[in-house]
Amino acid sequence: HCPVGALYERDDVQKVLQALEDPDTVTVVQIAPAVRAAWGEAFGLEPEQATVNRLAGALRAVGFDYVFDTSYSADLTIMEEGSEFLARLGRGELDKYPMFTSCCPGWVRFVKSQYPQLAGQLSTAKSPQQMFGAVVKNWFAEKIGVPPEKICCVSVMPCVAKKDECALPTMKNEVGIPDVDYALTTREIIRLIRSEHVQVQNVLETPFDRLLGDYTGAGVIFGATGGVMEAALRTAYYLVTGYNPRPDSFRQVRESRRADGRAWREAEFEMADSTIRVAVASGLGNARALCEAILKGEVHYHFVEIMACPGGCVGGGGQPIHCDDIERAHERGQVLYGLDRVSAVRFSHENADVMALYRDELGAPLSEEAEKWLHTDHFGWQMPGETARTGSAE
Ligand code: SF4
Repeated sequence: HCPVGALYERDDVQKVLQALEDPDTVTVVQIAPAVRAAWGEAFGLEPEQATVNRLAGALRAVGFDYVFDTSYSADLTIMEEGSEFLARLGRGELDKYPMFTSCCPGWVRFVKSQYPQLAGQLSTAKSPQQMFGAVVKNWFAEKIGVPPEKICCVSVMPCVAKKDECALPTMKNEVGIPDVDYALTTREIIRLIRSEHVQVQNVLETPFDRLLGDYTGAGVIFGATGGVMEAALRTAYYLVTGYNPRPDSFRQVRESRRADGRAWREAEFEMADSTIRVAVASGLGNARALCEAILKGEVHYHFVEIMACPGGCVGGGGQPIHCDDIERAHERGQVLYGLDRVSAVRFSHENADVMALYRDELGAPLSEEAEKWLHTDHFGWQMPGETARTGSAE
């Protein structure tokens, strides 16, 4: 059994086509950050043609009622995870072991099965895919006057493990309505677009729909290794000091082509009167090396980002596969950093639609409502062979 649930692929294209054909169902689709760096490869589009807005146009042509960007909820994840990090740091919970990111289901399954003594250190924030679905089935449903059970929420992900994540019993509301109904991989959405005979070269670029449409450069870089950490540090700095850092202040956590022989990257930053030590790893072999070093006390960090796929989601198992055997994760990551560089807004806490959600509904990060919709209990489901709540490594 694959510990991260990523080694088999279930095809959900037919189920999504059925939902698209049902006149009583409102279909909502979200596009993950890493998809924009790869979807055009299958259609032979140049990167400047293969924009995320052209993909949005193609998904409208296929029949989706609302098209959104998961980068919106990546910004929401940063608000919750960054606030949680500062709260746990303040409570002294990170003195021995770090807080780990929780947005990669491959990593969450890995740590629960291989290092259960560290599972309590995972952030409780849901992944951007799940936060997006929760906001759609609650706030957005109310705004458009449609009962949540009439909404089919589809995500387009670079990832096979996201299918299992959206099916978890902990990713449903109290009456059993799932946040996300179907997760399609980049490869599946390519098949779906082809099956509907949409000529992507001729599709007009269209903007995302309103209410959940805003996204920032910080949300976009979630798709590359180090991106979650960099985005979180930009906002954590603001939350601690009250003013923005230079957007590229934390670029040390980005991957570089220069091999230094280490399984992970580390960096140290000053924030107000504190020194924050962070580490970033991608690939489960590297994650294992880092967990071992942490448990042996050889290294100490406050915050650690881990992505199961080498290079992060841009190199995910659901992305297009090429016959030339060339690894494209680094180049795709550079596309995302390029999009961040030219973004008008580069801080998650400046996402206008995310701020509107807090103003209208949630109040503030980590509020009771935010905890109910946007956080999860990693011990609310078990891996095969896992028996009881393990708690933190303390
Ligand atoms: Fe999925 Fe890989 Fe991204 Fe993890 S790193 S969320 S397994 S694509």
